[in-house]
Amino acid sequence: MSARQSLPGRGTTWLARAGGLVWLGICWLAITTSGFAQEVVRNDFGPAKKILLVFSESRDLPGNAMMEQALRAEMIKDSTNRLDFYVENLEFSRFSDENHARAFRDFLRQKYAGQNLDLMVAFMGSNFNLTNELSGRVFAGVPVVFVAVSELNIPAALRQPDWTGLVQRFDIAGTLSLLFRLQPETHRVVVVSGMSATDRLTMDRIKMAATALDGIEFEFWTNRPIAQMGEGLASLPKGSAILLSTVQRDMAGQAYYSSQLAQMIVPIASAPIYVLSAGIVGSGVVGGAVVDFENLGAHAGQLAVERLQGGTTNQFPVEVRTVGTPMVDWRALQRWGIPQSRLPADTVIRYEPHSFWGDHKALILTITTVILAQALTIAGLLINRRHRQQAEARARANQEARALVAAIVESSDDAIIRKDLNGNIITWNRAAERLFGFDAAEAIGKPITIIVPPSQLPEEMDILERARRGEPIHNYETVRRTKSGRDLQVSIAISPIFDESGKVVGASKICRDISSKKEAEMEIRRQRAELAHVARVSTLGQLTAALTHELNQPLGAILRNAEAAELFLQGNEPDLNEIRAILADIRKDDQRAGQVIERMRSLLKRRSLVSDPVDLRETVQDTLALVGPDLLARQVKLTVAIPDPLPPVMGDRVHLQQVLLNLILNGLDAMNQAVGEDRTLAVSVRLKTPDWLEVAVSDGGTGLSPVEGQQLFEPFFTTKPNGMGMGLAISRTIIEAHGGKIRAENNAGPGATFSFTLPVGPG
Ligand code: ADP
Repeated sequence: MSARQSLPGRGTTWLARAGGLVWLGICWLAITTSGFAQEVVRNDFGPAKKILLVFSESRDLPGNAMMEQALRAEMIKDSTNRLDFYVENLEFSRFSDENHARAFRDFLRQKYAGQNLDLMVAFMGSNFNLTNELSGRVFAGVPVVFVAVSELNIPAALRQPDWTGLVQRFDIAGTLSLLFRLQPETHRVVVVSGMSATDRLTMDRIKMAATALDGIEFEFWTNRPIAQMGEGLASLPKGSAILLSTVQRDMAGQAYYSSQLAQMIVPIASAPIYVLSAGIVGSGVVGGAVVDFENLGAHAGQLAVERLQGGTTNQFPVEVRTVGTPMVDWRALQRWGIPQSRLPADTVIRYEPHSFWGDHKALILTITTVILAQALTIAGLLINRRHRQQAEARARANQEARALVAAIVESSDDAIIRKDLNGNIITWNRAAERLFGFDAAEAIGKPITIIVPPSQLPEEMDILERARRGEPIHNYETVRRTKSGRDLQVSIAISPIFDESGKVVGASKICRDISSKKEAEMEIRRQRAELAHVARVSTLGQLTAALTHELNQPLGAILRNAEAAELFLQGNEPDLNEIRAILADIRKDDQRAGQVIERMRSLLKRRSLVSDPVDLRETVQDTLALVGPDLLARQVKLTVAIPDPLPPVMGDRVHLQQVLLNLILNGLDAMNQAVGEDRTLAVSVRLKTPDWLEVAVSDGGTGLSPVEGQQLFEPFFTTKPNGMGMGLAISRTIIEAHGGKIRAENNAGPGATFSFTLPVGPG
């Protein structure tokens, strides 16, 4: 720890500067005091340690004053005891005769009789003698710590058991090295020195240092009184520098304080001045590797504290130092145009104009940090508040959304039920109450199976399983049972419910009563079947004439054969073989008539659409059998093309027959005016793709006008005077119910072709 760092009051000065920043002050105090308390445990209530500070020269000399202040500060800071300082000022060089010395010793002896000093600190300047004597004769047995800045050899007397101390020699080499570093162009050094023993010693050391510097001219100005040096110093040529050594006494016997001497020669000197002691820096000289008195005093203070706390000089030997502290006067650097960049890194720069930043760097940084910290805190608080507000708004929106959802759920016409993964009911809305007859209190907590008829239980298990896997189910139509045991047709939609981690925790089920919709659908189907039936009856009506003829023919033959049989039986020996043949004919004709009647009956029967495998070849042939007589009557030629083998289609044979019948009769109607080859009706079946069969009915009739083409399949569209306009509309309904398509197009030649497709059935 250097003396500079350990000077007292830095923390408090800083505090004072911090002024009104109470907050800061508190922080600083907290930091500094806690650190301090750890270093020293002071026993302030014990007896104070008595320390005598003895100055062999004037206590007011700048170096002495600096050392004393630093020493006291260091001791107060580090000592565990309360300290009591006494000060004596011997001024040896002013009052050097033995009488005076003796009188002074006597005076001190009386003054300090019975005081029991604990320590004597001797500031010995350049002379070691008097203090030595004092210690031996007056304060025998009191341990001594001494500080000396001297070039003298240390007398053996100082190496006593109770003595310890520091001797600082001038750092001449360091000062010259600084000189040449700052002013490398220097080739001539003028050394100004005194004539005292000490002065000469110092000068000898400078001479020794000079011999090591080749090419530099040294001049030692000792042979003329200082007062006469002015002219010479004022006319030094360029490339010169002055080294001010000690001048305790000049040739004329004149004594000088170095700092005063410097002040005298600085204004007249034409070259920069370098010095050996910190006390001179400030009087206009450039600087040097100087004796740093504060550092020296603080170091002596540490030795004094250690000495007070015990130990012997074996542990605290005399220390001799020659290392100076590079120190310059900023103003002198400016004056001589010496760039600051040439300074060694650890140089102490004195008298540099203070910038606000330089002076208050720590304070500014601290205040900036505090402001920044406050700004950050405020920003943080604002952001925090904003986040909180957003979170509140989100929570409010969430709550509102929940309330809205709850209201929607409650007011929904559909039953909305939530169940857990075990199938237990968790929520049950009003529509569920209405639909199933259980009120919420009854249903909640019960298994969902209370509304599932036994036959649907496996299905419900499957639904639950799918919900557990997180699979939704849309518009699934099934049956559910009410509290009163009535079965309802329902459409259900199941959505899995996830928790925040994405795990399925249950399912919501929307259940819509579709009983009335189902009934309406059935009614439509029934009406459609009814309509189809009416249409068939009316279509058959068109065939009546031909069919009457078709029936009359076998009936007439039966009659005629019956009469013939009667005649045979009236004979004596009726020919039984002949009668057998007649009866066979009768059966054949009866079967023929029966078949005609059966075909008509099946078409006349009311029936709804069924889905069975249908052989289209048979269907076509049955239909042609019905219209055969009409074809004959209308003299229309018929061609039929059906591939063999033909896969079956799935469908309703009677309805498909009705479609074919419609198309064939329409074709015949269209050919009413046709002549020759045009009066041909072509019926064909083909495998359009492996999955689809196509049936086509082609005529050579009028063909279709564009307008007709668009409206043909609309109900009640007809161009015939007695037409109903339902044939094609019903045909389209039937074909679409089979999954197929029906269409119409004009032929390349005369007439039109109506065709429909049907999916190939299994097998
Ligand atoms: P309707 O036979 O009672 O008129 P349809 O629905 O069977 O009712 O036919 C509607 C109309 O389509 C017919 O009136 C006719 O104008 C037209 N049409 C049907 N088939 C043919 C065809 N093969 N050639 C020309 N026009 C046709």
